[in-house]
Amino acid sequence: MCLDPAAEAQRAMVRGMPLAELHAHLGGSVAPPTMWTLLHRQGLANLPKDYWSFEKAITVSPEEGVADLAAYDRIFHLTERIQSSPMAMELSVHDTIGGAYRHGVECLELRYNPMKRNLHGTHPLDLDHIIMASSRGLDTALLEYPQMRAGLILMMDRTFDYELNAIIVQKALRYRDRGIVGIDVAGPPQAGFSYRTLAPLIEEARQVGLGITIHTGEEGSIDDVWEVVEYLHPQRIGHGILSAHDQQLMDRLVRDDIVLEICPTSNLLTHAVRDLSELRWILHRLRAHGVRFTINTDGPEMLCTSLRREYDLLLSEGMLDDDSVRTCNTLAHEVSFVRGG
Ligand SMILES: [Zn+2]
Repeated sequence: MCLDPAAEAQRAMVRGMPLAELHAHLGGSVAPPTMWTLLHRQGLANLPKDYWSFEKAITVSPEEGVADLAAYDRIFHLTERIQSSPMAMELSVHDTIGGAYRHGVECLELRYNPMKRNLHGTHPLDLDHIIMASSRGLDTALLEYPQMRAGLILMMDRTFDYELNAIIVQKALRYRDRGIVGIDVAGPPQAGFSYRTLAPLIEEARQVGLGITIHTGEEGSIDDVWEVVEYLHPQRIGHGILSAHDQQLMDRLVRDDIVLEICPTSNLLTHAVRDLSELRWILHRLRAHGVRFTINTDGPEMLCTSLRREYDLLLSEGMLDDDSVRTCNTLAHEVSFVRGG
């Protein structure tokens, strides 16, 4: 095999950097063997009996991807079900932090929706128990991996009504001294949903020092991104790739110093971007307009990737050079909601 010395040097550079991952869903971040163990400990019925078919069911094929974001959401529905207990949450968070460290990540933000960890409403689990369990998993992992900085982000959901989302924010406020560092809005698109209605909840979280990141601009309308920017004033936006199509919006992101969390492999495998050439165009547009962005996995285990592999991909495809890789990673450390960097 003929190795390209320049490519090898780039890979070595990425391996030498302590990485920061700001956008990883807990539902996509736990190694399949751990999820298999959890499935059995939870005693869930009507799921695959063979490990390999189970692994296939909770991962996205690197060759084929998924049909669309709705299919991607259905995989999360399954992993959320398996993570629906205090025991499962503690082990999931713990396992993810150790796994990230072994892949070169030293700063990690993990996000999840606590109300999607109660068997989707079929089992009345107490949210406090779920959140406290995730904090315990965080605490014990940080004892074992003291080089890590890590924190948890609680996600509201576009399919929830205002009252349910308000409860999630109240929990984030209550547990902000137990490792909750920020809030987010995610979930499948919902007809009639309006980001601006959540502005009072976002303000409440901001007032106590929680970080604000919002999923938008991955699919749907560019007007959503405008609405988020105008009414929610986040420090960061999850994905936001549609912004590359709107020069005024990119100017506004620069003016308001909003950082995008780009997830290359996720966008390719869900077909949120058409192909590598569209991704290349998006990153080029963002850089040309001075929009700052970080590189992330969205969920390394579900997408069969790692943050190192994301950087390797962008380097090998010539979408980022050595300097811009360092810039993205340094920025991720700087804008992390986890203190102590
Ligand atoms: Zn996401």
